[in-house]
Order: sequence, then structure tokens, then C-alpha cells
Amino acid sequence: MGCGKDASVTVDSDQITGRLQSKIVAGHLPTNKVPPKRVSNRAANPDGLVFIVEYHHIRDGKSTMERSPADFRKDLDRLFQLGFRPISMSDYLSGRISIPAGASPVVFTFDDANPSQFQLNSDLSVDPSCAIGIWQDFASSHPDFPVKATFFVLPQMWGQPAMRSKKVEMLENWGCELGNHTTTHPNLRKLTDEQVKAEIAGGAALLERYGVTGPNLLALPLGISPKNRRLLRGFDRNGPVALRATFLVGANPALPVDSPKFDSTRIPRIQACKGPYGLDDWLDQVEKGKVKVYVAP
Ligand SMILES: [Zn+2]
Repeated sequence: MGCGKDASVTVDSDQITGRLQSKIVAGHLPTNKVPPKRVSNRAANPDGLVFIVEYHHIRDGKSTMERSPADFRKDLDRLFQLGFRPISMSDYLSGRISIPAGASPVVFTFDDANPSQFQLNSDLSVDPSCAIGIWQDFASSHPDFPVKATFFVLPQMWGQPAMRSKKVEMLENWGCELGNHTTTHPNLRKLTDEQVKAEIAGGAALLERYGVTGPNLLALPLGISPKNRRLLRGFDRNGPVALRATFLVGANPALPVDSPKFDSTRIPRIQACKGPYGLDDWLDQVEKGKVKVYVAP
């Protein structure tokens, strides 16, 4: 239907081109007058610190393991307003910080694979109340703040067993990464070397089962290192188990990877919580100009 009718309409191609051109010109008007603005008024600082932010549950509650959905959304907004832009953990570890001039990188991490981080509806759409859903909604109006995070998973893998493979596929398609968080979340300091190896190798095998091939990241359960810290540089257990970088729980911004003091077995993170050394506190310090964060030239 409609074909005969449309055929009788003559289209003036010049008219269309003219209209398109006027649209394009209109679309460019603001940037023609104003040169591209720096994302923040902070001076370039390629030697500055990097914020690696850490979440556990996205739900109401008072513990440092909980960030309410409303506060998570506020974090996205505050980080954005302060000129932070998300980068992947691999990009941080490779020193490839590709963000606009004046912007500062932020690396998001989510530990324990709690259900509130990532839930799908039965039609495989993202539940808008989980962390990913909240972030996707924010990113729809802030396209330069896309969903890009590292998930340090435990075998529970966000619940919804039938959808786990699908979730891993979706996360990787969005540019997210998955990391090891052991299998039973023990205090590694209390274990023998063999037990530590079994826990880390088990976490690596879990990721492999879902087709994750890199980037060999480990978040220490409770932020506690094993007695034998050499194991955090990788080891052999029925084949090589590689570890590229290991992350603590707290409590400050991380050094850039080319700093002489950078230690890939003890990379600090900032917990998204209130109180001293939490995210709110650190962002207050940024606002006051008291933290020398990385700023893209
Ligand atoms: Zn944990």
C-alpha cells in the first residue's frame, strides 16, 4: 500500500539537499562560534592519580558494602560533572588513557557478582533498577560516559544461572571486563601456598568456563594478600596461571602505571561509600583541588 500514491509525488532533490545543508549548518552553529571546551578547568597532569572506584551491592543499606541506587546515580552524575570519564582497566594498565582534554579517567569495578549489579528481564532486556540499568539510562543522556567497568566475579555470577553466558557476552560487547575474585572468597593470608593457588586457579577456571580469556586481573577477597606475595605475579598449577594485576579494597587513588612506585600486586581502589577515604570524601578533595588527579592534556 502507498506505492501508487508516492509515485505521483515529484521530489525536488535540490530542495532536499538544501534542507539537509541548512540542518547541518544549524547543527554546527554553536561549535562554530565557541571553540571546543575543556572538560574541566584543571590543568593537564599526565602524572596524576587515577580513581579506581569499587562497588559491591547496589541497594539501600548502611554498610560500606552497599550503595543505594539513588546514590549510585548521584555518583555517575558527580563524577561526570567533575570531568571524570570511564576507561577500561586494560586501558589504565596499558597507560592508554584516551579521554578528551581536561578530563580525568575513572575505572569502575564491581566485586562479588551480586545480583543487584546486573539483572536481566525474561526478554533479555536489562532490569532498569540494577547498576547496569541505572548506568545505561544515565549514558543515554551522557553518551561520553558509557557503561565500562570491570566485574570481579564469584561463582554466583549475579544469580539467574540460565542467563550467565548471555550476561558475560553482553558485558564484553559493551567493553566491560571480567576479573578473578577466587572461588570461596577466603582470607588468603590464612591459607597455605597450595590453598592460595587452588583459590586463584579456581577463579581463573570459572572465567575460562565463560570464555573470558583476559586480562588476568585479581581482586583480593577482603583486600588481604597471601603471606607469599610472589604468588600474585602468577604461578604454575597444572599449567600456568597468569596474573597481570591485583587490587586491594581501599582506600586511595592509584598511581599511573609508569610511576616508579607503581606495584601491580597492590593497586588501591576507592570504595563507593560515605566516611573517610570513601568516594564522597575523595571527590570532595578533588573539588577542593587537594588531589592531583590525572588530567588529559
Ligand atoms: Zn569481595
